[in-house]
Amino acid sequence: MHNIVALKELLQNPKQILITTHHKPDADALGSSLGLAGYLKKKGHQVTVITPSDYPSFLNWMEGNSDVLIYSQESDPLVRKIINQVDVIFCLDFSALCRINEMGEYIRLAPATKVLIDHHLEPENFADIVFSDTSAAATAELIFEVIRDLGDQDLIDVNIGECLYAGIMTDTGSFRHPSTSRNVHLIIAELLHIGVNTSKIHRLIYDSHTESRLRFLGYALKDKLTIIREFKTAYIAITSDELKEYDSRTGDTEGLVNFALSIEGVVFAALFIERNTLVKMSFRSVGDFSVNDFARKHFEGGGHRNAAGGVSSLPITETVQKFISLLPLYKNDLVKDQ
Ligand code: 5GP
Ligand code: MN
Repeated sequence: MHNIVALKELLQNPKQILITTHHKPDADALGSSLGLAGYLKKKGHQVTVITPSDYPSFLNWMEGNSDVLIYSQESDPLVRKIINQVDVIFCLDFSALCRINEMGEYIRLAPATKVLIDHHLEPENFADIVFSDTSAAATAELIFEVIRDLGDQDLIDVNIGECLYAGIMTDTGSFRHPSTSRNVHLIIAELLHIGVNTSKIHRLIYDSHTESRLRFLGYALKDKLTIIREFKTAYIAITSDELKEYDSRTGDTEGLVNFALSIEGVVFAALFIERNTLVKMSFRSVGDFSVNDFARKHFEGGGHRNAAGGVSSLPITETVQKFISLLPLYKNDLVKDQ
C-alpha cells in the first residue's frame, strides 16, 4: 500500500471529511463507511457520512448510524454545500461515480482531495489517492488494513470492529466465497481478539426478518423461480405489484438471488426487480463465468466476476426476454464443467 504515505500526510492535522458509498448500501458499504468514520473521529477529524439512498434496517445497529445523512431524503443544496466545503472525500466500496447517482458529478467537481478505497473491478480514474484491490474480499478488509498501516490498529475498538466484521462477513457470503483468504481470517482473528461478538452480528443481519419478508421469500421461491437447465441458469423476476403486496422494504430482496444459485447444477443466477421505471438486476455465478462482463456488456452494470448488478429501462417482461435471448451466446461458458 504505497499510497499510505500520502494518506498519512493528508490526515496529519484535523480535517473536515466526507465519507460516501454506493447506492443502496449493503453491509460492506455501510460497515466500511461507519468503521472508517469511527476511526477518523477518534483521530480528531470532523466526519460526515452521506449515503446516496436509504439502506436496510437490519444495518441500523451500527455505531454512527443515527448521524448518517441520506441524500435522497435531504435537501440537494445542503448535500452540495457539504461536498464543496470538506477537505477530504472518501469514496468507499464503489469503483465508478455513476454508482452514487447525482452525488457523483458533485464529487467529481469538488475541490476536496478524493480517496478511493474499493475492491470492485475496473476502477474509474477520479480519485487522488487510490486503494483499489480487486482481490480483497470486502472493502471493510481494506479499511482494516489502511487503519493498521497508518499505525493505528489499536484504535480499532469493538464498535468499529463490528462494522468491519459485518462488511467482511456479508461480502464473503459468511466466509464461503473463494475470496475468503488467509488474510481475511487473520483480520477476523484480530477482531475476535478485541471482543467483537461475531454470532451477535450474524443474528442481527441474517435473523431479523419481518414476517412479510419471510412469506415473500416463500412466494418468490415457490412461484417465481424459473430454471433453464439447458444453460445451467435460474432466475427470479419480481414486479412492483408483488413488492407492494408483500409490503417489501429496502433490503427485503437481498440474498434472494443466492437461492437461485444454490440449485444443484446451476452456475448462473439472476434476480430482476421492477422498481419504478427501471428494472434492477442482480447476477451471481459460480466458476469462471464472469457476471461482471455480462452486466457491463448488456445491462449498464458491473461488479465482481461472480457477483454483479445492472439496470434496464425496458419493461420487466422484455428485460427477462432480453436476458433469455442472450444465454445461447454464452452456452459454451455456462455448460462447460465447472
Ligand atoms: P447486488 O446484486 O448485491 O446489488 O450487487 C452485487 C455487486 O455488483 C456489488 O458489488 C455491487 O456493488 C455491484 N453492482 C450492483 N448493481 C450495480 C450496477 O448497477 N452497476 C455496477 N457497476 N455495479 C453494480
Ligand atoms: Mn463490497
